[in-house]
Amino acid sequence: MNTAHSVLITGASSGIGAVYADRFARRGHALVLVARDTARLEALAARLRKETAVAIDVVTADLTHPDDLRRVEAQLRDDTRIGILVNNAGMAQTGSFLEQSAEGIERLLTLNTLALARLAAAIAPRLAAAGEGAIINVGSVVGLAPEFGMTLYGATKAFVLFLSQGMQLELGPKGVHVQAVLPAGTRTEIWSRAGIDPDTLPDLMEVNELVDAALMGFDRREEVTIPPLHDASRWDALQGSRQALLGDIRQAHAAERYRSGD
Ligand code: NAP
Repeated sequence: MNTAHSVLITGASSGIGAVYADRFARRGHALVLVARDTARLEALAARLRKETAVAIDVVTADLTHPDDLRRVEAQLRDDTRIGILVNNAGMAQTGSFLEQSAEGIERLLTLNTLALARLAAAIAPRLAAAGEGAIINVGSVVGLAPEFGMTLYGATKAFVLFLSQGMQLELGPKGVHVQAVLPAGTRTEIWSRAGIDPDTLPDLMEVNELVDAALMGFDRREEVTIPPLHDASRWDALQGSRQALLGDIRQAHAAERYRSGD
């Protein structure tokens, strides 16, 4: 990917986003780091400027606040230096579906889906017109697994996967690479922020390993990268099965099993 492109990374103050910042800086990309915690963003920016000499802007924004979201959208629309968006900011959810509050649902969906989609939509037309650039959307394997019991969080991540696949179909032919990254449990602050002690969880992946694998998938122009999936043919089989199902949908009539009365 062209190092003349700046990379805007949401959720860059910790965890996966902070490692993306480190790796893209080491590849020579200028950065725009977005999150709420200005002090942490500035500390990361200062370290990376010193270690890599790339230009780094810090943007303090709460992506669940409409004015802040509009500000970042405008930057993605107007700043022609930005050629890569890493749509990474996200939060997890604790408790069962029965325990969710209206405010909690709104915050989770706003950050994990609405903000992510709006930021992608802000930059996509400009990248498509230029015929280059990339959008990385961070989903989760939880989006494949209603069985994991994180119903709302998983639903937001299923949205991210679907959105990414649809965007890739639309934007790929125009020269824009769209990648969905699906981590499984990874050692970051997301757990403690959600009130879960990560040391009680088995076998988390270290965050450096996760991002390095995701970037290997990015360099190979993968559309969906699942670093913890060991047998890649399982993903191909799932897509093949999904497409076969689509081939058996005939919308003019209900299936025979719904047409007989007994
Ligand atoms: P993390 O360390 O908690 O990082 C989350 C980032 O998002 C932080 O930089 C946080 O910064 C930012 N953020 C949170 N709320 C925000 C808001 N309202 N506005 C703007 N920024 C906000 O967790 P992480 O694991 O690196 O998570 C990154 C992504 O990976 C998320 O989308 C998550 O769903 C996904 N993921 C993580 C795992 C895992 O096991 N860790 C697994 C699958 C997928 P501030 O607090 O400074 O705003």
